[in-house]
Amino acid sequence: MYARPVFCTQCGQRLEERLVGVHHEKSVPVCAACGAVHWIDPKVAAGCLILRDGTVLLVKRAIEPGYGKWVFPGGHVDRGETLEAAALRETREECGAVARIDGLVGAYSYPGRPVIVAVYRATLLPESPAPYPADETLEVGWFTPEEIDGLDLAFRSTADALADLLGRPFRTPPPDV
Ligand SMILES: [Zn+2]
Repeated sequence: MYARPVFCTQCGQRLEERLVGVHHEKSVPVCAACGAVHWIDPKVAAGCLILRDGTVLLVKRAIEPGYGKWVFPGGHVDRGETLEAAALRETREECGAVARIDGLVGAYSYPGRPVIVAVYRATLLPESPAPYPADETLEVGWFTPEEIDGLDLAFRSTADALADLLGRPFRTPPPDV
């Protein structure tokens, strides 16, 4: 899913791995022909935890990774887009929910994993349609913390953000992204 580049985007030649950094601890693809260094940056994602009457809106994923598992609505941030705008856009795309951001729950990153996720507390706006399964979504639902205990959560960040929001732990799924 997050494959390393094989060819140089500047000149089209095949890349080779080279050790860089103060202690030569990082391996990055470098073009021997033109010298371009192809840094492998993290992927940034953002999402919304929407609360209503003690329940949280979650969506069941219709795509890998995490197909068939539950997560808060969210997705990748476009370059030039704010985290907040991305969180709201993805929420609308995945389940039709039109929301307002109330604050940051947390930012989640894990050793060796490519994705950094920023998660926001949010409120459904009065003009929002009732959430429905839209893009990349099989099902939507509002869940109490006890009900969430019975769900397969998609990612560690899902469990960690829910724990920070609700002040109690949730079962952490095996490492994925
Ligand atoms: Zn090149």
